[in-house]
Amino acid sequence: MDTYLLRCLSCGTRNRIPAANIGKTAKCGKCGSSVDTEILNTAHPLIVTDRNFQERIMQAPLPVLLDCWAPWCGPCQMMAPLMDQLAAEWKGRILVCKLNVDENPLTSDRFQIRSVPTLLIFDRGQLQNSLTGALPKHQIAQAMKNWL
Ligand SMILES: [Zn+2]
Repeated sequence: MDTYLLRCLSCGTRNRIPAANIGKTAKCGKCGSSVDTEILNTAHPLIVTDRNFQERIMQAPLPVLLDCWAPWCGPCQMMAPLMDQLAAEWKGRILVCKLNVDENPLTSDRFQIRSVPTLLIFDRGQLQNSLTGALPKHQIAQAMKNWL
């Protein structure tokens, strides 16, 4: 049976969640805090903004692939269906998120995003890697392989 690794937001321990328990409330094996397993059902890119960045990225219970894009950017539009596909394929493993750089200047400045698309990879609230340009799926999967 499939199991998923979900980080406890209180103590940082990764808990194994069997697929059958997704949607149920779990308790962290180490500290006993409640762990919300519903996020393992996320199969679409989540929208990240300056406002929710802290909660959605820094406190994410899963590794994050953040697509930084702009509405006027042609290669970004081409990447959009791939991001949808990756969100579905990597459901329960990686959170695929999208940030509109025009609407969220604080986050764009913070990570010095100078061109779009830029992909940022986060784990445990830390920036792990960044990739620039419209990349094919295999290259993105290669960059994410430690978390898949
Ligand atoms: Zn815990």
